[in-house]
Amino acid sequence: MNWGNRDTATRRILILGGTTEARELAGTLVDAGYEVITSLAGRTDTPRFPEGIVRIGGFGGKEGLAAYLTSSHIDMVIDATHPFAAQISANAVAAASSAKVRLLRLERPAWQKPEGAIWLEVGTTLDAVHALPRDARVLLTVGRQDLGQFLAHTKCRYIARMIEVPPGLPADWAVIAARGPFTLEGELELMESHGITHLVTKNSGGAQVAAKLAAAARLSIPIIVIGRPRLPRAETVDSVARASEAIARIFRTG
Ligand code: NAP
Repeated sequence: MNWGNRDTATRRILILGGTTEARELAGTLVDAGYEVITSLAGRTDTPRFPEGIVRIGGFGGKEGLAAYLTSSHIDMVIDATHPFAAQISANAVAAASSAKVRLLRLERPAWQKPEGAIWLEVGTTLDAVHALPRDARVLLTVGRQDLGQFLAHTKCRYIARMIEVPPGLPADWAVIAARGPFTLEGELELMESHGITHLVTKNSGGAQVAAKLAAAARLSIPIIVIGRPRLPRAETVDSVARASEAIARIFRTG
């Protein structure tokens, strides 16, 4: 498709969001004059709203998303969801293809092992559970959706940090409701005060090494890293700046 003669305001972009990058990209694209709709899954009660239009809730699978792209006259869809949100990313690929809408994925770079870290990469959450020794004191930073496997394995002491705390966690869990970014000093304090022996995290990634990884490396606390799910192929950029450049180029050249 060639958008050469259309100005930015008539170009309607759907951002599949729920990440900091999605929010930043929405602001950048609104400033550039595009019409921007960000879609949020509705998982948290207190989402941070981006600039532009926001819609909340699922589309009803890949067919529902394809129908939405067509009926809402979307010119381009940006999958800026979290690297572990594999279902919506797969749906985006299928829906963009069937609705013949251009798709760009914005995926932050994976974290690499910080220097000096004790680093164990595992494939699944269950692998992470099995990698924990009995009686470990675990700082769990996997998000509330992935606590189930740890709940079933009571051999460790868990200190779980998440944005919103679900009801019904065991009384012997220490739970911290907090939203990043976190500082190195704060993470060192947290790990030392709770006597943490292991850190469990998804490889959510980001432009910089997360403070929790740097703190664990400094304290020689083993880091168990859950690897990212495989996603279907899509044109991908790794930063907000590269996404906005790519969007401008695609609209210019088709
Ligand atoms: P998922 O497993 O990939 O998606 C499950 C279903 O949730 C999708 O099929 C879709 O429902 C709906 N959905 C997901 N993201 C959506 C969006 N941005 N807008 C509208 N519907 C969406 O997703 P998830 O892992 O539960 O993540 C949900 C949201 O939380 C995502 O937006 C993601 O960016 C954010 N998030 C996830 C994580 C994580 O670790 N998974 C961490 C931080 C933020 P329908 O099939 O009905 O369309």
